[in-house]
Amino acid sequence: MKELEIQGQVIQPGERKLIGLQVGITTTHEPVTMRAWVIRGKTDGPTLMVVGCIHGDEINGAEIVRRLINSGSLKSRFKGTLIAVPIVNVPAFSNRSRYLPDRRDLNRLFPGSPKGSLGGRLAHVLTSELLPLCDAVVDLHTGALNRANLPQIRVTAGDEESLALAEAFGPSVTLTAGTQAGTIRAACNAVGIPVILYESGEALRLDTPSIRFGKRGVLAVMRHMGMLPKRPAAAKKRAKHAVVCAKGYWERAQVGGLFIPLTALGKAVRKGDVLGFIADPLGDYEEEVIATQTGILIGRTNEGQADEGDALFHIALARYPNMAAKKIVQSGEGFPDIPDDDDDHPVHYDPYTDVI
Ligand SMILES: [Zn+2]
Repeated sequence: MKELEIQGQVIQPGERKLIGLQVGITTTHEPVTMRAWVIRGKTDGPTLMVVGCIHGDEINGAEIVRRLINSGSLKSRFKGTLIAVPIVNVPAFSNRSRYLPDRRDLNRLFPGSPKGSLGGRLAHVLTSELLPLCDAVVDLHTGALNRANLPQIRVTAGDEESLALAEAFGPSVTLTAGTQAGTIRAACNAVGIPVILYESGEALRLDTPSIRFGKRGVLAVMRHMGMLPKRPAAAKKRAKHAVVCAKGYWERAQVGGLFIPLTALGKAVRKGDVLGFIADPLGDYEEEVIATQTGILIGRTNEGQADEGDALFHIALARYPNMAAKKIVQSGEGFPDIPDDDDDHPVHYDPYTDVI
């Protein structure tokens, strides 16, 4: 097994090192350095790269990487190389923002350019220095600000190798959608490197179930790739609970007002179900939010206020949603239920005619 050299930094077999990749200089002359953990087993094997915080405010990714690199599983019987970048978008992370200082989205700038903007250079360093070393990539994300996601994997439709990684990760829901240009997924697709995107939780929040599930998923992918010993047959069963959905849609607010959700993430939703309410803040009306299609609730706004047209519920279309929801509970990552059977939404009753 040979030594590995990245930007002049040498990592020997059996060694773990935090390396720094130089990206550029800010207006205040500060160097922008992207840090990556490179952890090598003593024996040859595949190379997996795990990246967090391509969107700077999606901080679950950094915590998943932190727990992953400290995992006892990597201390022995580990083959190959793990490259783990906790924070790709360093300036956006420092600003607690999804976007770069010039308001661009780093995940639209891949593969990047050495002469481009700071974002273009960040993308270029990742694609030119680290990506060529990899056999597979896991890209860690969360929902946007105030929007929570059920643990889920996104994978490019028809990409069988990536789909196999998704199955190994073992999410309750896998969405097989197209890939937008400029994403790290598109950059991986262009050079034939399998890639999966993990989404869970929301921006600027550390969500323990999402983090634990994410770390467990990456270790499962490493087992699938032969970097770690296979797990016992009983544990393998869990991965089979995954539901693969080809499409999702957002249920939007038909009127503006206070938003009162009644449906928890991971629940089955049937066409015609009442998912929540939009209530007039001045007390006049309460409109039901009704599901227009059948599926699994995989994302939801956590804002208590909605304007007409705002996205409220993200539903992955599934033919047998009840079966899928049952599997989600069995696989242990269902989110706590929200009580919907008593009077915690009093305007549901007519405030003018109810007699107490
Ligand atoms: Zn993201």
